[in-house]
Amino acid sequence: MIPASFDYAAPSSLEEAITLLQAHPGARILAGGHDLLTQMKLHRLAPPLLIDLREVRGLRGITTLSNPDFLQIGAMTTCTEIALHPEIRTHAAALAEAADSIGDVQVRNASTIGGNLAFGDPAADLPAALLALEASILTQGAHGPRHIPADQFFIGSFRTALESDEVITSVHIPLPKTGQRSAYEKFKNPANGYPVVGVAVSLLRRDDGTIVSCRLGLTGSEAHPQRLYQAEEALKGQKASAAAFAAALSQGVAGLKGRSDLFASGEYRVHLVTILAERALTRAQAG
Ligand SMILES: Cc1cc2nc3c(=O)[nH]c(=O)nc-3n(C[C@H](O)[C@H](O)[C@H](O)COP(=O)(O)OP(=O)(O)OC[C@H]3O[C@@H](n4cnc5c(N)ncnc54)[C@H](O)[C@@H]3O)c2cc1C
Repeated sequence: MIPASFDYAAPSSLEEAITLLQAHPGARILAGGHDLLTQMKLHRLAPPLLIDLREVRGLRGITTLSNPDFLQIGAMTTCTEIALHPEIRTHAAALAEAADSIGDVQVRNASTIGGNLAFGDPAADLPAALLALEASILTQGAHGPRHIPADQFFIGSFRTALESDEVITSVHIPLPKTGQRSAYEKFKNPANGYPVVGVAVSLLRRDDGTIVSCRLGLTGSEAHPQRLYQAEEALKGQKASAAAFAAALSQGVAGLKGRSDLFASGEYRVHLVTILAERALTRAQAG
């Protein structure tokens, strides 16, 4: 299908991009285009102006920064770059695995972390990993920069905390402590590659196996990606074991509603959360 006509701008600075967003209500940022252009072709969106971020310097790439120690991922970094990056694979395995599971090679080569987050798809892969890894999303808008914790960013189905004049500039992930490991497990929809449910885990254990902290990020199962706080609390102080995981998860999923659609019932999705969380916890425990 052919989208409604639109104007196109390729600013060379972030300031210019934000000025354009402010001056043209309804304008949209263009990153990899894999969600935006599809929506436009289906006539679900008809932005008057697309603001292409590809010429804006400093939005692409992965760096390790210190004081405090964290990984910085530019918003225009692609899923392929994330999946293959040695520092991400070592220090944020859940994110590398989530990025590597997205669509196919062509999709991963084009789609960006900024676009994956900003679109707010309740079944996107990267949000689950970022929730488990305690990431923050950095934005820049007409009113200055913001540092939004991942667990405050996703607020509804296709709704995020991003303002209409804001651009995601990067994502920050704290480097793991000694003994902290992460993993991502996904039950893939065979028709489109999206997760029916995806669960990411970040687990910090002492040498004797006691769980110091645990974060579980879900995608696909609820109206928006979110953490499984109840199970996280139940696991704290326990010795990591299959029995402890099963007990914590049986309580932990009690509050979930489970999204129902053509592909799966809510009840089935909640069941998948338990199975995938157990698998991810087991892998994170094994290191
Ligand atoms: C065939 C196919 C299979 C897919 N499979 C999966 C899958 O398995 N799992 C998965 O998670 N996703 C999947 N996707 C989605 C894919 O990962 C998307 O491309 C991605 O989610 C959006 O990234 P993008 O860079 O293409 O963004 P775009 O499509 O360019 O933009 C998406 C939205 O985000 C906004 N935006 C983009 N960047 C910024 C920014 N820096 N700041 C503010 N707003 C911004 C845009 O204005 C737009 O509203 C699939 C897509 C396709 C086409």
